[in-house]
This record gives sequence, C-alpha cells and structure tokens, in this order.
Amino acid sequence: MALPRLLVRALHRAAAAAAPAAPDFNSFVARTNTCGELRAAHVGQKVTLYGWVQYQRQGLFLVLRDFQGLTQVIIPQDEAHSHVKELLSNAPLESVVRVTGTVSPRPQGQENPKMPTGDIEVKAETAEILNSCKKLPFEIKDFIKKSEALRMQYRYLDLRSSRLQWALRLRSRVVMRMREYLCNLHGFVDVETPTLFKRTPGGAKEFLVPSREAGKFYSLPQSPQQFKQLLMVGGLDRYFQVARCYRDEGSRPDRQPEFTQIDIEMSFIDQAGIQRLIEGLLQHSWPEERGSIVTPFPSMTYEEALAEYGTDKPDTRFGMKIVDVSEVLRGSNIHFVQNALSYPHGSIRAICIPQGVKYLTNKDLGSLKESAKSQFNQEIMEIICRPDGSFKSLLTKFLSEKEQSELIQALNMQEGDVVLLAAGEHKQVCSALGALRLLSANLLEAAGLALRDPTAFHFLWVVDFPLFLPKAENPTELESAHHPFTAPHPSDVSLLYSDPTKVRSQHYDLVLNGNEVGGGSIRIHSAEQQRFVLEKVLKEDSEVLSHLIEALEFGAPPHGGIALGLDRLISLIVDAPSIRDVIAFPKSFRGRDLMGNAPDYVTPEELEPYHIQVSWPLEEKEAKKN
Ligand code: ASP
Repeated sequence: MALPRLLVRALHRAAAAAAPAAPDFNSFVARTNTCGELRAAHVGQKVTLYGWVQYQRQGLFLVLRDFQGLTQVIIPQDEAHSHVKELLSNAPLESVVRVTGTVSPRPQGQENPKMPTGDIEVKAETAEILNSCKKLPFEIKDFIKKSEALRMQYRYLDLRSSRLQWALRLRSRVVMRMREYLCNLHGFVDVETPTLFKRTPGGAKEFLVPSREAGKFYSLPQSPQQFKQLLMVGGLDRYFQVARCYRDEGSRPDRQPEFTQIDIEMSFIDQAGIQRLIEGLLQHSWPEERGSIVTPFPSMTYEEALAEYGTDKPDTRFGMKIVDVSEVLRGSNIHFVQNALSYPHGSIRAICIPQGVKYLTNKDLGSLKESAKSQFNQEIMEIICRPDGSFKSLLTKFLSEKEQSELIQALNMQEGDVVLLAAGEHKQVCSALGALRLLSANLLEAAGLALRDPTAFHFLWVVDFPLFLPKAENPTELESAHHPFTAPHPSDVSLLYSDPTKVRSQHYDLVLNGNEVGGGSIRIHSAEQQRFVLEKVLKEDSEVLSHLIEALEFGAPPHGGIALGLDRLISLIVDAPSIRDVIAFPKSFRGRDLMGNAPDYVTPEELEPYHIQVSWPLEEKEAKKN
C-alpha cells in the first residue's frame, strides 16, 4: 500500500534532519571545488580552484593546496597559453593562485593511489596570482623540524600544515557535537559569564587587570565557578559554556595561562548523574576516526588510586601496580623495614617491572633510584629475579625462603623481572613508586617493549577525594582538595564539625590515559555550611564571597557540575605531544605570545589613568639606561 504523500514528505524531512548534510565548502565564493574534492566522476568538468602553490616542477605541473587537500594542475605548454605557463612556472611556493581548467583523467599508470585526488589532474586554461609569497624564512616542508619558538613566531604558516588543520577542525567538530548533545538533546543553556571579575579567596593564581579607580583591580577568573552556581540560584537549571579560563601559573611546560573548559552545572543532580551525562557527552562527540569508547567508565576511589598507582590520575593502560608487601616482610630482620613499620602510617610497597632484566640497563636502574631520592627523598631497594629464578639483591641474605616465595607470589614475579621496593610513610612510598612506575614504563617502551596501546583510550573516574588536604607550605593548615564550594560526602557530614581532615568529598575527577581531563563536584547549597567551611576550616575571609553566601540563603537549589579541560582532551584524542598543538595561537611555556610579542611594555603615560607606576628591578633599570 502506498503511503500518503504527506507522510512520505514528512518522513523525508525527518531523515534529512537526522542525517547532518555534508557542508558546502563552495557556497558564496567563486571557486567551484576545493583542492581535495575532485575525483574521476568530475572528469570533463570545467572547474575553478583557489589555493597555495605547494610544489612546482620544471614548468610542467604544480600542486595546488588548500585546507581540504591537493590537486595536480597541468601547466599548458602551447603557444596560445604562454602567459599562463609564464605565470604558473614563476609563482613562488606558497603564493596564492586561482586556476581555471578542465578535469582530466591522469594518463594510465600515472594515477597516485595515495592521493584522494590521485586519479585526476586539472588542465589549466587560465590562472591568476592573487598574492605572491615572499621568500620564506625556511622551507615549509622542513617546518616541523624547526624549533617550536620559530614555528610559534610564524604561527600562521604553521597553521597551514595538515597536522594543525586536522587538529583544529577536529576540535571544532567535537565542540559542535558537544553543543548539540547538551543543548539539543538535554536542554542545556549556553550562557556567557564575565571574564572581568574580582579576586576570589585562595585565588593566588589569578591575573589582575587594573581599573581606573585608584588601587582597584579586576581579576580574570580561573573558571566561571561562582557564576555557574549563581546561574543555578537564578533558576537556569542546566548551564554550559565553552569557557575561557585564566591561571597565572608562571612557566610550566604543558600549561597555558589561558585555556578552555567545557563548563557545566546542573540543578537537582547527584554525582552519578553528572558521570552519566559526561559519559554520554563524550560518546556523542567522540570523533569516528578514533574508534568508539565504552561506557560507563570504571571508577576508583582516591585511596585506591593512591595505594595502587601512587597518583590521583592513574594511567590504567598497563599493570605494574603498587603492591603492599608489609605483611610479607613484617617478620623479617631488616632494619629499615622494621623502622618503617614502627610508624603509624608505615608501609613497605613494591612494583614489579616485567622483563626489567632484558629491557633496563644498570644506568636506567640507577636513574630510577636517583629520581626517587631527589624528588621524594625515598630510598629504593631493587630485587632482580635471575633467569634461574634466584634473587639478586642486597636483601636476599635477610630473607627466609618462605619470605622469598611469598614475595614472588605477592608481586607475581617472573624470571627476568625487576622489583623496586620502598619502605616509609604510606603516601610518600606510594607517590615515589607511582612516579617510578611511569618512568619505568617510558624506559621499557623506549627499549622496545610494547606496554601501552597507543590507540587505546582508558577513561577512569576517581572519586571520594578528601574534602581538605594539608597545605603544602604549612601542613597544620587545611586547603580545599578541589575548591571551597565542594560538598562533603553525605556520610561524612558530621565529621566536618569534629574532624575535617577525615571528611571525604563529593568531588570527582575524570582521568584519561593518566591525564586529568575533568573535575567537578556536588556543591554546598547551605549558606551556613558554606560559611563554616570558609571561616572555620579554611580560615578565609568569607566577606569576599558574601554575594554567593547570601545567594544560597535565597532558595538555592541543590546543584553540582564539572569542567572538562578541552585543550588537554583534544590533544589526547589527536595524540599530540602538547596542548599547544591543538590551540590556534598558543603561548610559549613562559606565557609569551612569540608572534605578536605579548606581554609588552606600556609607557608611563599609558599607565597614568590606572594610577600605576612600574618599579623596575635594578638590572632592568641599568639596562634601560644603557
Ligand atoms: N570550576 C572547577 C574547575 O575549574 C570545576 C568544577 O568544579 O565544576 O576545576
């Protein structure tokens, strides 16, 4: 039976809406096709292409490039087209040209199967040099080998590379899908929040912006945290923003003073709800060419992560977990073991490096031990399991046969493995072994053992963080493990008032292949509890946050959220070594823009309206004089 016409039309419309149409790259412009588009099916068509000269050979042909690909253009040799030949043969590389011509099949045997347009070529009929490229500071094809500083100085040239084009276009696609998932499928509202705000307590890393009122400064927020909570008080219910955040952290190799978060907040939500939302979001926006991801993501408590991996962001792509061998060695007659176990948090732990004998040199082992010493002040003992199964270690003579076989069992030691053992305070021992686990993995891989699958994506939730941690510079004082707005774990609320160091929080981090790619929490929505945390536990002046605390008193809904670090996430998806490879105009690791040379000096006159004077360090004063 034929379907009624109206229904057929409605079905077609629905199908068209469901399947996103391929974008039209040639709308509004004079080109007929991009340089990556032409195929055998286009043979015979007259086309107009615009692009950069990638390559030119002996006045016979050239390769034209744009964001989508490469097309071979045949330069006409006949007298009637001598001016076209003249023009195209003399166009310097990287000049921008327009070529009009006819698509022809490549002569038999000359097809290039590696090139998507490798079946055709365009026989040029007319051409125009739109802008000639001056002599480049280096050859574009060698660009990738040049120093990062030089590439950043000429960022607009580096942006022409397929590597950066791919990364930025993939980033845009992922963000588009995220918007679609959040707004269209789940009713989120995209709201922009101010970037000129004021300092927040504990916000030591904020950039200051002078104002025209003497002595008053704005601050660039580290994240839209306060605003997104206030949006919940304002009844927005589900907020998201592709938010620019600022942290003045000085020089750090893989950090940027400005970076982007996918910032999310929801009312009436719990931890599990946020986790399911993020899993769905990532699954929806995951680029097809990177395979698929499996949800729900596994979850691990902070305590487990620390005990087994020595870090709150475990790389779960490989084993080599930290093993507690305290009980195996408790009865042994080893002085440093007994000493460590006599303290309340004393522990003996070890990692077993598979085939360490084969893949690690003595120098490697020396450097591993040296790094534990210099970074964690932690001594490391090694036990080598010889190919015949016997132990080679300074410890051997102190270990009974029973202890040796229990160690083998606990660590699942095989012949040829190397064990690194540490004794001391639990957290220090775990942190040191966690760092050695990663360093050894790098060494094993450098020596040729395939340990981590480079195409694997291991997501992990880390939960049940402590609400507060001792301050690094003064361990008798506490600071928030996440931020001061994080709510305590429902079962630990009473501890907040009796022993805050024991309170677990409703803070969750998302980890991908050993990198933190997101973090968030369920928030405190009681003004009384928020004031208590700020004043009594963190000893902060709650006055600066009076607007937020007051807002909580006017019927604030329970709420929670998360922020994903977009730069890091994309750099992991495209397997780029640095987040700078997925940012169009990144800063150097000293926080400088090497292309435009920012930050830059301003004159005393320009500073006057801000009531600011520069107090020059002595050496710079001298340098300026000379
Ligand atoms: N604002 C937090 C951050 O930037 C994330 C959150 O708690 O939602 O880490």
